[in-house]
Amino acid sequence: MAPVEIKLRMPVLEKIRFARKIRLVENRLKVATNSFSSFSGLPNNCALVKYVEALWSKCNLSRLANKIVRWFSDTKGSGKEFDYRFTGRDSRFFLYNFMYLIDLLDSDSQGLEKNYCHVQAFICLCLRDIVSYFSRLEISDEEVGKLKALCLDYFRANCLYQAKVNPTVWTIGHVVPAHTLDMKKKYGLGLGLNSMEGREAKHIAIAKYSTNTNYHKRWEQIFLHEFVSLIWLRGRGYNLDYEKTSCSSSYIPKHCTNSDLFCYCGFVKNSTEGICRFCRHNKRQQTQAEVKAGKLTSTR
Ligand SMILES: [Zn+2]
Repeated sequence: MAPVEIKLRMPVLEKIRFARKIRLVENRLKVATNSFSSFSGLPNNCALVKYVEALWSKCNLSRLANKIVRWFSDTKGSGKEFDYRFTGRDSRFFLYNFMYLIDLLDSDSQGLEKNYCHVQAFICLCLRDIVSYFSRLEISDEEVGKLKALCLDYFRANCLYQAKVNPTVWTIGHVVPAHTLDMKKKYGLGLGLNSMEGREAKHIAIAKYSTNTNYHKRWEQIFLHEFVSLIWLRGRGYNLDYEKTSCSSSYIPKHCTNSDLFCYCGFVKNSTEGICRFCRHNKRQQTQAEVKAGKLTSTR
């Protein structure tokens, strides 16, 4: 696979990194100066408090919000980096609502930080559409082509604007489109065939099937039971009332494609222009042009 050539203009990149570092230092100093001992001691107008409240109230991400509160109370925001393992449900709700979080950060930012919010909006939108395509069991040749283009945009945007490209970003940029194409050629199906979602639900179902089995023929009987329940009975019109699994849910909310109120990205759109203020913004056009060209422009 040929590597993608990207020319990085370090002075511009350094400016972006520098601004982010300054902001981090300012926030840390602010926290240290005021000697907040826990999250509950932070003022209501603090960006972190507003962010956590939005995770709770708007995004249905209470587990992530609680983890941030615990992390802050333990480290005061100046110790070890925050890390979090997203569950399938968390990933879905994050991709549904990321624009509200970006809007919140954007309203609290200025200068280069605002540029950074627009870049993040573009990267998250690419990621949402990529996840939607690579989670599908059934995918057309046209969609495989769209996935490849999105993965390239995502990888290039991370190369151009982020401080570093981690192995996950590289994998999404290069391995996911190639693997999806390979699955499509070999089996006629998408990468969703390899989905690891719903493992807990599958374990519960298997435990239920194993209840009335003979010890020596347990697995044979479990698979027989599974086949009868999921395929044989369904083929004859029975057992159709199973709860819809998370694997069959979409990562792109319906209101993004069929509502007059919401833009494709999920944010509230301007009624006269048909898209939201982020998608309409000239920084978005500039970001898209730079990503397509694979290089930054001097005007940013
Ligand atoms: Zn939009």
